Amino acid sequence: MPETVYDVAIIGAGPGGYSAAFRAGQLGLKTCLIEKDPLLGGTCLHVGCIPTKALLFHAEIYDHMKAAQEYGIDGLGAGKVNWKAIQDRKGKIVAKHTKGLDFLVRKNKVDRVQGFGRLTGPAKAGVFTVELEAGGKKSEIKAKNIILATGSFARMLPGLQADDRILTNIEVLSLDAIPKSMVIVGCGAVGVEFASVYRSFGAEVTLIEMLPRLVPVEDEEVSKELQRSFKKKGINCFVDTKVEKVERTKDGVAVFFTPQGQSQQRVEAEKVLVAIGRGPNTEKIGLEKVPNIKVERGFVHVNQWMETGEKGIYAIGDIVAGLPQLAHAGAMGGIVAVTRIAGKPAQPMNKNRIPGCTYCEPQIGSVGLTEAQAKEAGYQVKVGKFPFTANSKATIINNHEGFIKVVSDAKYGEILGVHIIGPVATELIAEAVAVMQLEGTVDDLMFTVHAHPTISEGMLDAFSAVEGKAINF
Ligand SMILES: Cc1cc2nc3c(=O)[nH]c(=O)nc-3n(C[C@H](O)[C@H](O)[C@H](O)COP(=O)(O)OP(=O)(O)OC[C@H]3O[C@@H](n4cnc5c(N)ncnc54)[C@H](O)[C@@H]3O)c2cc1C
Repeated sequence: MPETVYDVAIIGAGPGGYSAAFRAGQLGLKTCLIEKDPLLGGTCLHVGCIPTKALLFHAEIYDHMKAAQEYGIDGLGAGKVNWKAIQDRKGKIVAKHTKGLDFLVRKNKVDRVQGFGRLTGPAKAGVFTVELEAGGKKSEIKAKNIILATGSFARMLPGLQADDRILTNIEVLSLDAIPKSMVIVGCGAVGVEFASVYRSFGAEVTLIEMLPRLVPVEDEEVSKELQRSFKKKGINCFVDTKVEKVERTKDGVAVFFTPQGQSQQRVEAEKVLVAIGRGPNTEKIGLEKVPNIKVERGFVHVNQWMETGEKGIYAIGDIVAGLPQLAHAGAMGGIVAVTRIAGKPAQPMNKNRIPGCTYCEPQIGSVGLTEAQAKEAGYQVKVGKFPFTANSKATIINNHEGFIKVVSDAKYGEILGVHIIGPVATELIAEAVAVMQLEGTVDDLMFTVHAHPTISEGMLDAFSAVEGKAINF
């Protein structure tokens, strides 16, 4: 039998890798998808996006139940959370979508291989060799192009190891019971989402962030609004605060920290979640064998087509330098890469058009430059802001915290960024991404008909507010 030479071999089957593989199959490329774990889906499906959003949905339902009387529904009482049932449902959702991926592999005629993939060096006569290690045995896979999609791991505080009390995103997703108290170190998307979940289910939650604000990558006003809302919910928030030490106590953990300009404090809790960011899984994948690949602190540099310095080797997803670690950024990176490999017209990745969504309550959705970044970049910034208090549908659904903020350039009405905190923000942001992708202006949005009453008509008001012409505010 002649040896198979694939058009593309993809290492890692998270959302980056599997999206690349399915589109490669659709484009008629002979494709091999290499995954070390028995299941496809990566962090996102098994210990990231999907299970967290399942828990957040349950928390949201529970919050509505707590307010049942306000909605005119008597007789529900306080309700009781069946944590096991919630965990089971979360597991079923993950299992259903894992099966879906198995089906899509077959549908798109992708060869699936289980094993740990590693680069062996530059191409020889236009063909790369990937070393595959599975069950102690080594073999080889040949391909004309390679996509690295090996994802990331949760960083840990120095000297600590995850266990039943010191948790990462993995352990915190399958606790036996809802903890009475939890300290969360790190207030990016992962930290604030778990704060939201466990606070809704009744835990005492303390959030600690080293930087001066919660969700530090978001627009400053969004961070302020989230902190205000979290405080109202009874979540203790410490920003500008460094965690010095975590100790195991008789029943839990003690966290020692010093808020800027104050003396050291100590908080005890049943659990501590460490959510201080994610490092790239690139240590053992043979990058050093290919000198043309530029690597910085483990992250791989690529061009706008996701190609590394070595022609024919691409990198996508959480391992890429300078791109947000988000499932949809990885997935689109994969699509761009394989479209280029297939020689079809592709559009380059644009960092400023990747939405960031945080599914805590209130939700956050944003795209493009923050107000501060736009000013720093020298734009003549014009801002429009619309509060959800003035949106009738937000009042109907009893969720009118937050606002929509549009950052634009005064010169041509270019939309530079949109920042939303409030109801369905993670859905609303799609409109902003689409209009930015199509290079629409503030004017275009001001004359786009939005249905009434909807939360999305808040977008019309926010864009109109740039010109001081919001109808409902
Ligand atoms: C708690 C949490 C919640 C999140 N929520 C969201 C969200 O709501 N929305 C969002 O967009 N993002 C979210 N993210 C981020 C998202 O999960 C990641 O951005 C996404 O999974 C990255 O995709 P990826 O394909 O690069 O890597 P991964 O999903 O990490 O997949 C990499 C795959 O490669 C495999 N692999 C690694 N090395 C090798 C090797 N050498 N050989 C073979 N296989 C290998 C791994 O086993 C894994 O299956 C969340 C993350 C966390 C932790």
